[in-house]
Amino acid sequence: MHPKIILIHPPVSKPSEPPASIAKLAGCLQANGIDHEIIDANLEGILYLLSNFDLGSTGSDRWTARAGKHREKNLSALRDVEIYQNKSRYQRAVADINRLVSQAGKASGIDLSLADYRDPQLTPVKSGDLLAAAAQPQLNPFYPYFSARLGDALQEEPEFIGFSLNYLSQALCTFAMIGFIKKKNRLQKIILGGSLATSWVKIAGNNNIFRGLVDEMVAGAGERKLLELLGCQGGTIDTTPGYRDFLVPDYLAPTPILPYSTAQGCYWHQCSFCPEKAEDNPYLPQSPDKVLAQLKGLCGEMHPVLIHLVDNALSPALLNALAQSDLGVSWYGFTRITHHLTDDDFCRSLRRSGCTMLKLGIESGDQEVLDSLHKGIDLTTVSRVLKAIHGAGIATYVYLLFGTPPENEESAKKTLRFTVDHHDCIDFLNLAIFNLPALSPEAQSLATANFYEGDLSLYKDFVHPLGWQRSAVRKFLEKTFKKHPAINEIILRTPDYFTSNHAPFFRYK
Ligand code: SF4
Repeated sequence: MHPKIILIHPPVSKPSEPPASIAKLAGCLQANGIDHEIIDANLEGILYLLSNFDLGSTGSDRWTARAGKHREKNLSALRDVEIYQNKSRYQRAVADINRLVSQAGKASGIDLSLADYRDPQLTPVKSGDLLAAAAQPQLNPFYPYFSARLGDALQEEPEFIGFSLNYLSQALCTFAMIGFIKKKNRLQKIILGGSLATSWVKIAGNNNIFRGLVDEMVAGAGERKLLELLGCQGGTIDTTPGYRDFLVPDYLAPTPILPYSTAQGCYWHQCSFCPEKAEDNPYLPQSPDKVLAQLKGLCGEMHPVLIHLVDNALSPALLNALAQSDLGVSWYGFTRITHHLTDDDFCRSLRRSGCTMLKLGIESGDQEVLDSLHKGIDLTTVSRVLKAIHGAGIATYVYLLFGTPPENEESAKKTLRFTVDHHDCIDFLNLAIFNLPALSPEAQSLATANFYEGDLSLYKDFVHPLGWQRSAVRKFLEKTFKKHPAINEIILRTPDYFTSNHAPFFRYK
């Protein structure tokens, strides 16, 4: 008999679909017959805040009162594809739901949204602040939810509790929950994994910096380590993700969505600004045949309305296999700009296979900047790819990055011109300001300071070699880039909070 484990997905991340990372672990535990429970504390916690929101506490705030009155109607609407055909109704429903979440956070002094968690007193990149969150879990806005939920779950005395920590917006809540568990039972073994925990292990030179609170910090894929801890060495790790333990109809999107990862890491692994390269994460793909077989099996069980391929970049081999497949379900994911996407017939076959949206990291409209970042793409190809994908009826979600070390204002203006020139084949936009990965070679050569002064920060502040500092970049984005009418139209079309997770439904046919 193996010990029991509870796996927890902590708040806050977008509550639109089950977390792929925990589903992978759940599939492994199921296949090896290990007793386990899955708690999506993010979804449950947000729904708890919404249904327990005390309207009496809001005084004369009319927006909050309206949001409270329409709470159930808005939640149901977001789970129905129809509202995505009416952008203003959709925006109002999301803004109203977010209003309640935000007000619930405010009552505990937290800037809370459907996609973020910010504590003005504590930062998630300081180990001391995370320990402070663990010491006083009752200050967390999710405390009423997790104290009851975990209190019940702990009665079954699981030997292990695993947290999957992937985003900074989850860190303070993760530690508040760990603190609560440790106060209840100091012997419960806590395991901390996920991509953020992996980065922290690397920053700390493979040390467990939270010893005493966290029993095991797991870097990278957690299946093997989990089986080892649970006394199941030699168990099967090559398994299909398991979604049966998730409350699939409760997510805030037309459900079910099937998230699926075809590989770990990135096959390109070259972009100089990317944590994948800086942390030297290995690329571990599954064969296209296996991916398609697993997806077929999962579609047969779950009957999803949409498959979300969560990889950093779908490989050309996999895209080829998908183009020839017939899953009978719409799908979307991230891909690099590659030559085969310039082929109209190939893009049409992707569309026939169900591809509804492709996310594309274009980053810059200046070729010199792209070359300097080792993006491995040229703008002539980018232009042809955008036209071919859009022409095939596939939505494009374009990611741009400003303020990189080789960029100056002139280059940023070239990106503006490139975006305007292609505005009719860009459906959605994500604009980001560059952060310098702390472990990148550039961090050694540029003049740096610790970002946010945190010992766990994954990024470093740096003096821009061309004088194109963050404040100037931000000003350019707000006052010039976003103000251009052609670009403004795309930005207004891009969904708030849920961004790319909801975007495919606006093109859903
Ligand atoms: S393609 Fe994307 S994930 Fe891969 S190295 Fe470049 S930025 Fe990173």
